[in-house]
Amino acid sequence: LPDSEPKLIAGIRRRAAHTRSRARVSRVVAGIGDDCAVLRLPAGHQALVTTDLSVEGVHFRRDWHPPDSVGHRCLARGLSDIAAMGGDPVAAFVSLALPADLPQSWVDKFFSGLLKLGSSFRVPLAGGDVAESPSGVCTDIVLVGSVPAGKALLRSGARPGDGIYVTGELGRSAAILHGLSNGRKPAPRAAENRPHFFPTPRLEAGRALRGIASAAIDISDGFSSDLAHICHESGVDALVHEHSLPRGVHGFDSSSLHFALHGGEDYELLFTAPPKARVPARIGKLRITRVGEIIRRTRPRKSRDSDPRLFLADSHGQRKELTPRGWEHFSAGG
Ligand SMILES: [Mg+2]
Repeated sequence: LPDSEPKLIAGIRRRAAHTRSRARVSRVVAGIGDDCAVLRLPAGHQALVTTDLSVEGVHFRRDWHPPDSVGHRCLARGLSDIAAMGGDPVAAFVSLALPADLPQSWVDKFFSGLLKLGSSFRVPLAGGDVAESPSGVCTDIVLVGSVPAGKALLRSGARPGDGIYVTGELGRSAAILHGLSNGRKPAPRAAENRPHFFPTPRLEAGRALRGIASAAIDISDGFSSDLAHICHESGVDALVHEHSLPRGVHGFDSSSLHFALHGGEDYELLFTAPPKARVPARIGKLRITRVGEIIRRTRPRKSRDSDPRLFLADSHGQRKELTPRGWEHFSAGG
């Protein structure tokens, strides 16, 4: 490890304590330094727990992503899952496997990115683990959140007739990743590149959708795959209107449509709501766009091919089948 393990943990503990002291209401009774963290959940709430791995060469590359971006994205993935459930984050835990020759400054900047995002959402880092990796950096983030009992937004609640909505814009992150893999060097801190390097988890929107959305998911794999997950869990199909997709890449060429439909890591929310629900046009500054509707299953329920079907309608109303395509993470070596 770059630093001795006790020294590394002492450093993280010192820096984590700073975010903790800034938390509005500390839900961490005991954090780093005990065998387990002790968390206090608000009365009448249920716990949410999510875990996400980030692997060098699969989810990020050290020559493409600055260390603070890797730290930010690591925490953002967990926070985005809490947002998708309509929850509030309570505490984060991060485990790292680090190559012995990794510079200490990389680790310091990783934590700068992670803790900066944590403090902007008042999420304390309450524990974790460190080990030496034989090759490459691997990070695992665990997020604990809370949601009023029975109010979690699930993937299984979509019904025929419900509208399909997304927050923000789609495809920007994938377009930037595509540029990186084609040798471009986008500036990570430029506003137009932040959706990829420093995405904002949609916690405020998730919270606001409690009691409005019938189902929700965050767009991590890609719009088409994540919509298929909702349809699968809800036992329904979906119709998407091509022209209504809010594309993050300007110009309506085929690649911007491809990135919007299949590009991953947007970390926007995809949700459904019943026809009578009052879906706001904006939540804060974030635009909400209706992109389609849930339809009845077109395959018999007992069919061996139980996959849901997605349809894409063009501006003339012509429908074609939309095959869900997850974002294929770049392979090691590009
Ligand atoms: Mg998710």
